[in-house]
Amino acid sequence: MVTVKDKVFAPFIEKEQLAQRIAELADKINTDYAGRTPLLVVVLNGAFLFAADLIRHITIPCEVSFIRLASYAQTQSTGRVKQVLGLQEPVAGRDVVVVEDIVDTGLTMAQLVQQLWEQEASSVEIATLLYKPEAIRESVTLRYVGFEIQNRFVVGFGLDYDGQGRNLDAIYVLAN
Ligand code: 5GP
Ligand code: MG
Ligand code: MG
Repeated sequence: MVTVKDKVFAPFIEKEQLAQRIAELADKINTDYAGRTPLLVVVLNGAFLFAADLIRHITIPCEVSFIRLASYAQTQSTGRVKQVLGLQEPVAGRDVVVVEDIVDTGLTMAQLVQQLWEQEASSVEIATLLYKPEAIRESVTLRYVGFEIQNRFVVGFGLDYDGQGRNLDAIYVLAN
């Protein structure tokens, strides 16, 4: 058990499992993008550890860029809408692989993918460490998924609870 701020979390995915699965995802990317030079777009903050481990196993030529997403309230049924901040590289004509920590409702990734298409990327795929199928609300294709998990709150390995817990070297789940 580990305490982050005022909450207790239980072990959920061990670091060895993470390492093995991340290497497998990188192998798939190496195969799928052989002969091309994908642009890996890492979504900060949560994906920073996943991205670091994934990218160390990428053996084909690639480029890496980092973005943040700002959410703002919208009075629409879609709820929060995200805006891309800080994508410097032109994505027109590029094979983009978005590197994300977790897909929950899918709203964030749906918005980002749409913006990348609008900027005329040649292709857009998503690599996410975690995916909660029960929570999905927006249809989004996830090409590379580390682990499908239950609809429970997790921290660690880059993911935070109220700003803390990103430093944990494995994934923990809220105990209840
Ligand atoms: P979505 O737009 O898919 O609902 O939201 C995805 C974002 O919500 C993730 O990038 C992450 O920041 C946050 N999120 C969703 N579920 C969890 C969770 O279980 N733990 C943490 N720490 N963040 C989560
Ligand atoms: Mg995220
Ligand atoms: Mg967070």
